[in-house]
Amino acid sequence: MLCLMIPGFSLTRQNAELEEELTEVILEVVRGGQFILGENVTKIEKEIAELCGVKYAIGVANCSDALYLALRACDVGPGDEVITTPFTFFATAGAIVHAGATPVFCDINPCTFNIDPSKIEDAVTERTKAILPVHLYGQAADMDPIVSVAKKHDLYVIEDAAQAIGARYKGRPVGSLGDIACFSFFPTKNLGAFGDGGMLTTDDPELEERIRMLRVHGSKKKYHHEILGCNSRLDALQAAILSVKVKYLGDWTDARRSLGEGYREKLNVAGNAIIHPTVMEGAYHVYHQYTIRVPHRDAVQEQLKARGIASTVYYPSSLHLQPVFKNLGYKPGDFPESEKSTREALSLPMFPELEPSEQDRVVEELCDILKSYGDR
Ligand SMILES: *Cc1c(COP(=O)(O)O)cnc(C)c1O
Repeated sequence: MLCLMIPGFSLTRQNAELEEELTEVILEVVRGGQFILGENVTKIEKEIAELCGVKYAIGVANCSDALYLALRACDVGPGDEVITTPFTFFATAGAIVHAGATPVFCDINPCTFNIDPSKIEDAVTERTKAILPVHLYGQAADMDPIVSVAKKHDLYVIEDAAQAIGARYKGRPVGSLGDIACFSFFPTKNLGAFGDGGMLTTDDPELEERIRMLRVHGSKKKYHHEILGCNSRLDALQAAILSVKVKYLGDWTDARRSLGEGYREKLNVAGNAIIHPTVMEGAYHVYHQYTIRVPHRDAVQEQLKARGIASTVYYPSSLHLQPVFKNLGYKPGDFPESEKSTREALSLPMFPELEPSEQDRVVEELCDILKSYGDR
């Protein structure tokens, strides 16, 4: 029997549909000869600022840099602590160490996989300078209580919105919920370039000015360097591609949301073998991932693969247990919900062009596999 593999993520269909439009703008950039920053970058900066409902957006090389630059703009450095989640991509905590500061982890809410705001205040010390929540899998972290702890202790809030462009929290777009937000245009994100790309958003003109300086080696005037920055600029090619793609982001988000609802409705497995992702009240989830919890996760993933269905584990290890952070002194058991999630979380195929018939096959195979395991 011919059984085509269902990928976890694919750009083939989307790129085929947009080929003409994208080729045209790519040629324009090639002929124009402006490859770094310039008009195309200014244009996508305006578009992203508008999408996020903020005054400023600054294009940079990738979101890992965006996080580092956000921290530097807030003057986070040696001796400072930054509170964040251990259940995220490495870059979130890596950026804190690059800035010279110390990541202080806080466990997650098991329903949403996002940082648990009720645990943040206990982690605040006189060294704390910022809170760095992540909007994981496309759902905003519970920002109101986070911002209120930050206000009380005079801390900056930096959103890691790499997975959540277009998401909203109580009607407000991510990117407008803290002092600065960071976005990624890595090709697999909800708005992806044809290479690396990133963006910061803010409403604060002073932070904006600092970020613009930091991305070009800390200079406003050429060859006059006021602060120590780095080279982190968005390419004109990526910017032009993003300006084409951003027009479709709303439709793609609708498709992701309807696939999310599809999984929720169709994946009714007897005995509660699956725990679906919880959508918080007031959250507009953009389903960067549809991440369920299953018992025997690794075996289930293997069996799915044998039946031609790709799935992904984000993330197989909690950041507090990464070898590089050994010096921080954390140990297994420190963040039980994060650690449990590293054993249970499984992300199912999710991209706007996934056909409902393909989703049906994912559901059918997964239900069949889980039958042999019984209840949780
Ligand atoms: C992808 C991602 C990043 C890093 O983005 P890059 O553009 O690849 O540097 C940071 N944080 C989270 C949560 C991400 O998913």
